[in-house]
Amino acid sequence: INGSPEQNAYMEDIEKQFIIDKDQLTAIKDHFIVEMEKGLNKDKQTMVMIPSYVEGRLTGQEQGHYLALDLGGTNLRVVLVTLEGHGKFKTVSTKARVSEELKTGPMRDLCDYIADCIDTFLTEQNLSNVDEDLPLGYTFSFPVLQSKINRGILTTWTKGFNCTGAVGKDPVLLLQDALLRKHIPVKITALVNDTVGTLLSNAYQKPDTVAGLILGTGSNGAYIEQMAKIGKWKEGPTTASEMVINMEFGAFDNERVILPVTRFDNKLDRKSINPHFQIFEKLISGMYLGEIVRNVITDMMDRNLLFGQPGQNTEAISGHYQFETSFMSSIESDTSADLSTVRDILDTNLNLTNVDDVELRIVKRICELVGTRASRLAAAAIAGIALHTKVDRKGADIGIDGSLYEFYPSFEDRIYQGIAELMPDYADDIQNIVRLGLARDGSGVGAALTACVADKML
Ligand code: ADP
Repeated sequence: INGSPEQNAYMEDIEKQFIIDKDQLTAIKDHFIVEMEKGLNKDKQTMVMIPSYVEGRLTGQEQGHYLALDLGGTNLRVVLVTLEGHGKFKTVSTKARVSEELKTGPMRDLCDYIADCIDTFLTEQNLSNVDEDLPLGYTFSFPVLQSKINRGILTTWTKGFNCTGAVGKDPVLLLQDALLRKHIPVKITALVNDTVGTLLSNAYQKPDTVAGLILGTGSNGAYIEQMAKIGKWKEGPTTASEMVINMEFGAFDNERVILPVTRFDNKLDRKSINPHFQIFEKLISGMYLGEIVRNVITDMMDRNLLFGQPGQNTEAISGHYQFETSFMSSIESDTSADLSTVRDILDTNLNLTNVDDVELRIVKRICELVGTRASRLAAAAIAGIALHTKVDRKGADIGIDGSLYEFYPSFEDRIYQGIAELMPDYADDIQNIVRLGLARDGSGVGAALTACVADKML
């Protein structure tokens, strides 16, 4: 960094707090596996390990028109998926923003809004007068206790949603009710978690898929488990010997026995909509990384170590969530000697105009620390899944959806680096053994695939 002695000392201190070495990461991965097994064998564990009712695997030959609806990220999405068989499909989709008002208002208003979006989309696609109701897979990316493939109970909101009249209720029934009231020809045949959808869409094209992950606004994973290992399953025989498990790993270590949570994370957590919950998610996901960086920056500002030049406007950087995770991507990709992109980002987005070179290097280093920690923690989860499912030299595919994985430079490389450290027996060929791949818009196709499977089951 080459800053003042005080700046250098501060940076040394936070390096110690943010860097997770191999031994620590191994302990985190081991604890992750223990927690997976706890959740499989008993109800109400920290990682809830929810059976998805999606049994067995896909053939890739499934065909027909299906709808997918995705709620739980930045946007609401409606997708029409035409499955053509042979692992091929076509999609048409529409996106709509969910306002803060809808996110925290009555659930009935949110459902009416969603139904109207579907209605408009069907009209555009000339599908509003079909003979038979279109099957819809509802990707509802919040913790749901499922009781059937299209029934479940919302246990808690996450990611900034907090609608009234929804916790303890079935989100399928609430939305189906709105669709019926408005005479929209759609039947919700499946309730799909986005990670399960991501897994299925990856599997439609890559049959050796064992897991699906989301690394976007939030973080979560799903994988294929053997029924025999799901000790808490009490619903009798199933048609297949395997079932997809929605892990809800964002809640991993809410007790904080293993994660190296810093005061910057605690600050974020305290001011979040769900303090003490989803702690792992808060260290990894797009919604939070920029805010952790901002917490470090403002802490340095409070100590007169950053942005102290006379006339510097610090109003924007002082506002919650004003430092976006996408800034970290741009900042980390700046490898120029004068860090001109970093300078640009701070100027354009945050009105920081009198920034010196040391400050540019400090901001970049903070981004690296927070971004690297996130990818290494994601690696602990992935290695945990790979080792628990006993991946062998043949390897396995893992589909990943989300802007963080897609756009954050080095995120994937750092994950591979982390997995290689955690799986030393496979480190020589890690990219062919744990095959990570982008499953973009996977939740749309995956939800449609689930609706398709479910339509045949119902
Ligand atoms: P969602 O998970 O909501 O379906 P995305 O996968 O697009 O949608 O994730 C959105 C999240 O990704 C936001 O929290 C945003 O901060 C973050 N994000 C968006 N663009 C980038 C980027 N270029 N680099 C890193 N993070 C990004």
